[in-house]
Amino acid sequence: MRLIVIGAGPGGYETAVEAARRGLEVTLVSDGPLGGTCLNEGCIPTKSLIHNCCDKSLPLEEAQKAKAAVVATLAQGIEQLLKPVTVVQGRARFVGPRRISVGDRTYEADRIIIATGSQSASLPIPGAELALTSSSVLELAKAPESMVIIGGGVIGLEFAGIFNSLGTKVTVLEYCPGILPRFDLDIAKRLKSQLMRSGIGIVTSAAVTSLTELPDGLLEVSYRLKDENLSLRTDCALMAVGRRPVVSALNLEAAGVEYDNKGIRTDDKMRTSAEGVYAVGDVTGGIMLAHVASYQGLRALNDICALEDRIDFGIIPSVVFTRPELAAVGLTEEDCKAREIPYRVLRSNYRANGKALASDAAEGCLKVLAGEDGRIIGCHILGEHAAELIHEAAVLMASGLRIEDARWIIHAHPTLSEILQSALRQ
Ligand code: NAD
Repeated sequence: MRLIVIGAGPGGYETAVEAARRGLEVTLVSDGPLGGTCLNEGCIPTKSLIHNCCDKSLPLEEAQKAKAAVVATLAQGIEQLLKPVTVVQGRARFVGPRRISVGDRTYEADRIIIATGSQSASLPIPGAELALTSSSVLELAKAPESMVIIGGGVIGLEFAGIFNSLGTKVTVLEYCPGILPRFDLDIAKRLKSQLMRSGIGIVTSAAVTSLTELPDGLLEVSYRLKDENLSLRTDCALMAVGRRPVVSALNLEAAGVEYDNKGIRTDDKMRTSAEGVYAVGDVTGGIMLAHVASYQGLRALNDICALEDRIDFGIIPSVVFTRPELAAVGLTEEDCKAREIPYRVLRSNYRANGKALASDAAEGCLKVLAGEDGRIIGCHILGEHAAELIHEAAVLMASGLRIEDARWIIHAHPTLSEILQSALRQ
């Protein structure tokens, strides 16, 4: 069977590699570098900067070099993995139901998977084009003296941490009443106060209205806070108000693939409205996370190969790589209330954990939400290594183990993993 994959981010290249492993004849088309946003201007470069700037206090110049080296190493790895795949560089455009053109060549396949990802969204306000994006900010050679970040979501807060540790005076302007609107309110509030204590300015309920270039080269960012019109003078501004799917250049009409401004519509098997054409990852406008794209690619491939699929998209861990880290899986308290799901909360604190105290990581908390049947329906962690700890909660959720049973699993002492056990033992 011939498969074309469009897009070389995690949703595209990982699916292409797995398809080739399963014996499909695979062509991967990409108009950008292998690894997509995740490797080149997203997950990986930011994690390298966070590690080198926030944890190791390196200056930006050195951190940029380390970042480039990590990206290059991983890009080589992807190139190796893609050996059994025909890689075509260029922009794919549908010219028929299962036919695309790239430059002056046409390619046909039995199945096509669209994984073209997303790009930074902007605000429809005067001067929006003066702001940096999450891509261009990664190229800064020197840390600016001041930076206004528009949007207190995941991207905004991760960059706030990086530049704050480089000595930049950072102010985050968030439209909603709290940062990270989709995360557990109580945990997001705690993160906000910890970030503010670290020196980051955060203004919530702030609606940015315009950006203006001043004669002295600075930018003026104007915003409305309740009934007041306020402004900040800053060296630069970063726009971090979400991302939008990349669909426009695909000529989806030629294939009969339905889409709207939220992205390409799919069913739960990632099938689009056109037979044999699938869409995965950010381009579908759902949860924009690299790991979701990869598993959606696997889901599409399992459907193509008629293989059993037990991926549970109800259990998606997500992490905000601030210092401290925030990690979550499953429902928040707000979700439970909105859906009228009865739940109880079990909490524990880092400061009661020996390993946390011994390693200077006493600031932090963990909260488990359990349903009426004793199964875990959500877990939220703020603190050191939350990004790693969250996966135990994901495994417990996937196994369907009740708290009464999970609390008997022996955990090594002294470890941060005991923090989850302490919550379950209540
Ligand atoms: P986001 O949706 O996480 O956050 C955007 C924020 O901007 C929200 O808090 C929103 O309320 C705010 N906002 C919207 N309009 C505004 C306005 N007019 N003024 C001020 N604030 C405004 O989006 P993002 O941070 O841009 O990230 C994009 C996507 O990339 C997300 O889906 C995110 O999950 C993903 N991402 C994930 C990671 C990670 O997993 N660690 C890292 C980076 C990005």
